[in-house]
Amino acid sequence: MSLDSRAVDKCSNCNGTLELRYEQGHTAVDCDSCGATRIMSAPPILVVAHDVEENPELLGTFATTQLQQTIRGFCYLCSGPVEGTVVDSSLDSETDDSGNVKVAYECTECGAPFYTAATTAVLDHPVVVSLLHDAGIDYREIPSWRITRILDSEERVNDDDPVRVEVTVTVDDELTFVLDENLDVVEYSRE
Ligand SMILES: [Zn+2]
Ligand SMILES: [Zn+2]
Repeated sequence: MSLDSRAVDKCSNCNGTLELRYEQGHTAVDCDSCGATRIMSAPPILVVAHDVEENPELLGTFATTQLQQTIRGFCYLCSGPVEGTVVDSSLDSETDDSGNVKVAYECTECGAPFYTAATTAVLDHPVVVSLLHDAGIDYREIPSWRITRILDSEERVNDDDPVRVEVTVTVDDELTFVLDENLDVVEYSRE
């Protein structure tokens, strides 16, 4: 079960093209220019039951669904409890080369980690969902690789003791969130 490489979007880090392919239970989305890469697990039933040739974005909305389950505290593999953390290397500087603060949601039962960018932690915050809705965007249809681009987000580490990560989201209006070491929102403000 596989799907040949095809262009699905523009890269949020550079002006490159994101190319998606599917192989052996994994969806890979790679930028042809800056080398940004994402690999997401996706069971073959997705490719069998849906016409992903026609609609490859389905693999991205599936990945967003898994991310949502995980950030709400249920491991995407075993349903065990999940803890959010800021990846240590991210605490050493404000952002990485791609302007992201790398975070991990790790299952305390099976240990499966889910690495993503800090913006993911606020995607389903009611005020973000509402802002997207006002802009005519249904957040449930956003493929995982388009989250930071749609939210036009900026991420930075403000403090490492205690850990404070700031995420600014701009969709018409601007929202600023402050996350703690477990990626919970401790405050937000709307411009
Ligand atoms: Zn790129
Ligand atoms: Zn687990």
